[in-house]
Amino acid sequence: MAKGNIGVTSDNIFPVIKKFLYSDHEIFLRELVSNAVDATQKLKTLAAVGEFKGELGDLTVRVNVDKTAGTLTIADRGIGMTAQEIDKYINQIAFSGAEEFLEKYKNDAQAIIGHFGLGFYSSFMVSKQVEIFTQSHKEDAVAQHWSCDGSPEFELEDTIKADRGTEIVLHIDDENQDFLEESRVQELLSKYCKFLPIEIAFGKKKEWKDGKNVETENDNIINNTNPAWTRKPADLTDEDYSNFYRELNPMGEDPLFHIHLNVDYPFNLTGILYFPKIKNNIDMQRNKIQLYCNQVYVTDHVENIVPEYLTLLHGVIDSPDIPLNVSRSYLQSDSNVKKISSHITKKVADRLHEIFKADRSQFEEKWDNLKLFIQYGMLSDEKFYERGEKFALLKNVDSKYFTFEEYKTLVGENQKDKNGDVIYLYTNNVDEQYSYIEHAKDKGYDVLLMNGQLDVHVVSQLEQKFEKTRFVRVDSDVIDKIIQKDDTAKVTLTNDQRNALVSVFESQIPTIEKTNFIVTFEQLAPTTNPVFVTQNEFMRRMKEMSALQGGGGMMSFYGEMPDSYNLVLNTAHPLVEKLLQDEEAACGLSIAPINTELNETESKLNALKASHKDKKDEEIPTAEKAELEDLQKKIDKFSDDKKAILKSFAADNKQVRQLIDLALLASNMLKGEALAKFVKRSVELL
Ligand code: ADP
Repeated sequence: MAKGNIGVTSDNIFPVIKKFLYSDHEIFLRELVSNAVDATQKLKTLAAVGEFKGELGDLTVRVNVDKTAGTLTIADRGIGMTAQEIDKYINQIAFSGAEEFLEKYKNDAQAIIGHFGLGFYSSFMVSKQVEIFTQSHKEDAVAQHWSCDGSPEFELEDTIKADRGTEIVLHIDDENQDFLEESRVQELLSKYCKFLPIEIAFGKKKEWKDGKNVETENDNIINNTNPAWTRKPADLTDEDYSNFYRELNPMGEDPLFHIHLNVDYPFNLTGILYFPKIKNNIDMQRNKIQLYCNQVYVTDHVENIVPEYLTLLHGVIDSPDIPLNVSRSYLQSDSNVKKISSHITKKVADRLHEIFKADRSQFEEKWDNLKLFIQYGMLSDEKFYERGEKFALLKNVDSKYFTFEEYKTLVGENQKDKNGDVIYLYTNNVDEQYSYIEHAKDKGYDVLLMNGQLDVHVVSQLEQKFEKTRFVRVDSDVIDKIIQKDDTAKVTLTNDQRNALVSVFESQIPTIEKTNFIVTFEQLAPTTNPVFVTQNEFMRRMKEMSALQGGGGMMSFYGEMPDSYNLVLNTAHPLVEKLLQDEEAACGLSIAPINTELNETESKLNALKASHKDKKDEEIPTAEKAELEDLQKKIDKFSDDKKAILKSFAADNKQVRQLIDLALLASNMLKGEALAKFVKRSVELL
């Protein structure tokens, strides 16, 4: 028996390994099973080139737990190791690798989590003792037994081993007893080893028999050695692709499309990506792409390898060319990774374009589930926008789909205003904005449906991209004002008439929390609604943006402002004309004398103010200052008196309230008590 010192300089490296890698102990199993798989594949290669002439026999890698003995064993029938090889690969290389590794990453623990480079010695993260029993495939080699308890000393001796290959026996330490639980080991094997290229058996299959779970003769094989992404696309049917998707996402809904990636120059990359149905809340949908390295699972955090919006896809990427044992920040600047990222982007866009061209109706059918992904890509990646332009769709309220180009052709002339701007009308809620949509349609205009999670951003983006084009929500103004063809008719009311109508309507607008109304006038067609509500496009967008960003500064200023709406009176409508006449008939007599006095007082005030124009404050006599104040008070009082008269007129006139409520109702703003009162009043009016 040989004793020796492992080639490390620090006294005892293992406590360091254990502590340092605490959060990721479980990867030892991946490391050991992939070593076993490597050893098996090496033997197959040797056999293929004729260097190994013996029987290959059963090459299954076997994982077993023995709870009583406290051991976890990984056994292969691969090339095995001679005494010299153990010395070289285990004693020298593996352990010196360990030290180098720790030295390199001691300040960057995060960097190595879940990454390669730990190899055989990662077994000491969970073991108090590790044994190797190995029989080399080489003729005349003597089987070896190596043992180490986690100190830098090891023992190596000749032994007798019936079978070719290597058996690693881990004596699990007290803190890691969970690795002796079958369910835990099963879970890890399915996570890390599910697609390894050599069959891996974890114990025997179990069967339910006579009310008990009993072992059968058959191996419990935990992996699929020939996963779809490693095969040629030509050999796969649609069925194969959906089956593989289900293998990855047993609970998932069927995906929309797949893309098979297959690159061997300038880097190696295979994989299959699926477009899932993305409905809403993009944040919930990430981490469904798994990264493999030669069929060994590495991670499902691929943010640094693919552009962010691609992390919405599901599937597998396998590349031996992605550096795995480096920090995340390094990954982002790695040129291979950059190439891979832009390659995947291109492939994804090409595939979408292909489907769009080959089967437009299928593409349209899936658009609603696809659009969030495509929009996200186009918003965040200029390259993707350039490609997406050709297949991204706009949907109108009649569920017709158009490419950007097609839509421009549709509305380009018809919806051009007098300044030459093309107005894209849109709604984000067909039910709430129904009457506005109808008005637009009556004019022969088209209305887009923009009700998606990202549509607010899409609208801004397209406005920047398209020339002389503005997006305006249908309810932001009267349709003839949104798309102004020529100078619209002027409102012909006198100031007194305007003020009277403002007072009449203002006095009857119900209070709605965080909402302001401003009464305005438009001279529209007599057939247009008499009264309606609009909301300025700019203000509304600012509020929407601030709600999305939730940030501070200017944006939160807009966010805290009350919603401001216009209550627009159509002065050409007979009802409004009649109301004005009624008001004049009812209030004219009582308001006329007030107006006379008001005018007189205002003249006095103005004259007095004019006489003060060139004087400094201290030059104005106190008596005159008092008079100014007095006159102002009188004016306020007259105004209040007038308002009171108009208010009492408005309160008795059911039509005012009825007109306001109809306008609110058309904008879905009439709720609760106000709505109930409206219904009651309507019945009375009938
Ligand atoms: P890596 O696998 O990254 O080379 P490891 O520390 O895991 O590093 O292993 C070191 C070396 O030990 C391997 O390269 C291989 O030569 C040898 N080895 C490890 N496990 C086995 C095994 N099961 N059968 C044969 N050789 C093995």
